[in-house]
Amino acid sequence: MNTMQTDVVAIIGAGPVGIAAAAHLLNQGLQPIVLEKGQRAGHAMLEWGHVKVFTPWKYITDKAVVSLLEETGWKYPEKEYLPTAGEIVKEYLVPAATTTSLNDSIIYDAEVVSVSKLGMSKSSTHGREDAPYTIHYKKSDGRHLVLQATAVIDASGTWYTPNPIGTDGLPVAGEEENKDYISYGIPDVLGVEKETYKGMRTLVLGGGHSAINVTLDLLALRKTSPDTTVYWGLRRNNIERLLGGGINDELPARGALGLAAQQAVRDGALELLSPCSVIQIQKTGTGLWINANVDNQIVDFEVDRIVVAAGFRPNLHMLREIRLDIDDVVEAPTALAPLIDPNVHSCGTVSPHGVDELTHKDKNFFVVGMKAYGRAPTFLMLTGYEQVRSIAAELAGDHRAARNIELILPATGVCSSEPRPEATGEQPGQKVAVAASYSGPAENESVPADLTLSSGVSCCGSGSSMDEEAGATSSTSCCV
Ligand SMILES: Cc1cc2nc3c(=O)[nH]c(=O)nc-3n(C[C@H](O)[C@H](O)[C@H](O)COP(=O)(O)OP(=O)(O)OC[C@H]3O[C@@H](n4cnc5c(N)ncnc54)[C@H](O)[C@@H]3O)c2cc1C
Repeated sequence: MNTMQTDVVAIIGAGPVGIAAAAHLLNQGLQPIVLEKGQRAGHAMLEWGHVKVFTPWKYITDKAVVSLLEETGWKYPEKEYLPTAGEIVKEYLVPAATTTSLNDSIIYDAEVVSVSKLGMSKSSTHGREDAPYTIHYKKSDGRHLVLQATAVIDASGTWYTPNPIGTDGLPVAGEEENKDYISYGIPDVLGVEKETYKGMRTLVLGGGHSAINVTLDLLALRKTSPDTTVYWGLRRNNIERLLGGGINDELPARGALGLAAQQAVRDGALELLSPCSVIQIQKTGTGLWINANVDNQIVDFEVDRIVVAAGFRPNLHMLREIRLDIDDVVEAPTALAPLIDPNVHSCGTVSPHGVDELTHKDKNFFVVGMKAYGRAPTFLMLTGYEQVRSIAAELAGDHRAARNIELILPATGVCSSEPRPEATGEQPGQKVAVAASYSGPAENESVPADLTLSSGVSCCGSGSSMDEEAGATSSTSCCV
């Protein structure tokens, strides 16, 4: 059955930002319909449900959502506590999605495959502005359905489009053929996926916090399964900044992760490959043969599994028929991109922004949340909540409120807008290739709870980076 109702605002994705968008639209007297590919809200977050986030509860919730929840007698969690992504889904997103106000506005098992305008391809101009949007989605039983809407808010995140292994942004030879042995993101190697990684040789690729987390978890696994072997390949030459003192000074808990990784390298058992650029992968009778350039030398070695924690990119394919206004480099809205471009900002200093920065060429079409940041990984949930508050006000005709930016972000470090060495052509620091063993802790700790408040900064501290893919140094706090 196709939905012909057009006076609705379609929201793609029931993550924290999609749910907040629905709550703000309801507050404005508008009718949201959320299309969520999973069976519950927070479907993507559950994939990294075991990971503690880097901001405490007080920076995770949206005001409009909290108001809906409080009507049900919901109690705010301990504000300074750093929850796991799983706790956020269980204690906040699912209760919000099942409130009377939101429950009927969400369609689950609805994966959006494309968005267009009724009867018009991207190249049709006449009457375009008045034509409703058509949102094509599929159900797991194979049905293809279409929802019509007057406006679309794409809050589908970037989790399902991770960056591939190649440092040129493309899959390397053998990557697709061997996908059964490759995980993207942050597998739960100490929990549900323990049996898969126990006693195995695993290559972790990536230089951000996600990669550190997986590496330390694998080293913790090694304590109970000593035949577990860990290779850590930093795709860029960022070892000094990743493990050095600089980042550790800014954020104690983030520093703890860096120090634990440093200790792991010093103590052995962890083989650090830096800089490491995989050239090809082949399945052998005993594992995966890896051919790589490590520190300017071509090397071969064998592993059983690969974990790729090298950032994400937005799925723009589903928006092919929409007239977007997207920056070529960051793949974020053109007005927002310069504020978060990893080639310029060390940490993604972001001015408060709303509807004006998020407007595309097709009227009343918006990309918000993690996906709005394109390939820049410094997104904060609070930023997304302000985006959707502003858009909901605009759609309701309250243009003043839409532009009265209310964003307040936690400051967790000093951000620099100096171009990084890679951007200026300056030579990065000395290259390192180390083999050592591990005895350090496997902590999943994060940003300290005593964050001060100011606007215009992300949760990344000084010397932190944006995106491995963009030649980043160390990725920190919420930088994934
Ligand atoms: C490891 C990690 C740690 C982080 N730590 C922090 C932190 O400490 N603080 C912070 O503020 N932020 C943090 N972030 C960043 C960010 O806030 C989160 O990623 C957050 O989940 C983004 O919310 P979102 O709603 O934009 O996207 P998502 O949470 O990814 O939600 C998108 C939703 O859309 C659904 N979806 C996807 N594609 C489709 C489709 N085609 N059709 C229908 N539905 C679809 C998904 O199933 C999902 O439910 C972290 C991110 C990661 C990965």
